Amino acid sequence: MKGQTPLIEVKNLKKYFGESDRFFKRNASIVKAVDNVSFSINRGETFGLVGESGSGKSTIGKSILRLQSITDGEVLFDGKNLHQMSKKELRDLRPKIQFIFQDPYSSLNPRLRVGDAIGEALLDHELCEKHVVEEKVKEVMEICGLSKDQMNRYPHEFSGGQRQRIGIARAIILQPDFIVADEPVSALDVSIQAQIINLFSKLQRQKNITFLFISHDLSVVEHLCSHIGVLYLGTMMELGSRDQLYSKPLHPYTKALISAVPIPNPTLKRERIILKGDIPNPSKPPSGCKFHTRCPYAIDSCKIEVPEFKEVEKGHFVACHLV
Ligand code: ADP
Ligand code: MG
Repeated sequence: MKGQTPLIEVKNLKKYFGESDRFFKRNASIVKAVDNVSFSINRGETFGLVGESGSGKSTIGKSILRLQSITDGEVLFDGKNLHQMSKKELRDLRPKIQFIFQDPYSSLNPRLRVGDAIGEALLDHELCEKHVVEEKVKEVMEICGLSKDQMNRYPHEFSGGQRQRIGIARAIILQPDFIVADEPVSALDVSIQAQIINLFSKLQRQKNITFLFISHDLSVVEHLCSHIGVLYLGTMMELGSRDQLYSKPLHPYTKALISAVPIPNPTLKRERIILKGDIPNPSKPPSGCKFHTRCPYAIDSCKIEVPEFKEVEKGHFVACHLV
């Protein structure tokens, strides 16, 4: 909704790894996993964060939920600085901000029955009486496409897709305002991916949850996200609404990623842009525009000057000398 304060505001976020090593060992390398990233998410919206492996997506997700410290910048939740909250404020906020992992199996205790795993956090946060937990567990299991008869089973008795449903049920039982879903479908078979994506879109319709949806796959975010940011080596290269990004991609990196998205209609052909080379070593990123070593259009200034992240039309930002 326009004119509304965003629920999440990320301002000039930086997260560097290896700094403390450098203090002792002069040549220890620093990885600028997140390097001056800004974006905001309005209430009820889903923001998609895409980029190749190692581009800093998970680091941003964890920093927003204060699951790790940050090097610089700010994360505001409903206007409040999350990294400056007291322990008490943070404890009260915890159930409202949830994380869904790529691999729910490693986050599920193999010895805990699924119903107990889903209800656990309600009891931990003292959000309801013990006798009502079971009812709530059954309710969210049904919402998430699980049968309530399965509540006494153990995680190993479930398939990958069902386990992800359990992970989602564990998050939504707390009635969160905000969820970071970090590659929640990447480990699943394609046919199962579609079912889980449908579950996310049902939750978007039925619950007023704000999502940060992380994926390396642009075809996945297209279905769910109203706004999308494209990361490369810790830097936001382009950001815009779904329509701006898919119908008018401006950054050569975004164009290459979109060209790899399959089109359902086989008579339509999209020219595939193949990027040269591999993603560079993040502790030695290229000078100037970090993307210049792989960019088919790079000019001399791209090697020297860091492009400004500029707004080229309302809400559409891009960091490229050629735009
Ligand atoms: P993505 O989720 O996009 O694959 P990550 O956020 O996991 O990327 O990682 C971004 C960069 O930060 C990578 O180069 C990764 O090796 C580095 N990194 C992530 N976590 C740590 C850590 N705890 N210690 C050191 N380096 C890390
Ligand atoms: Mg990741």
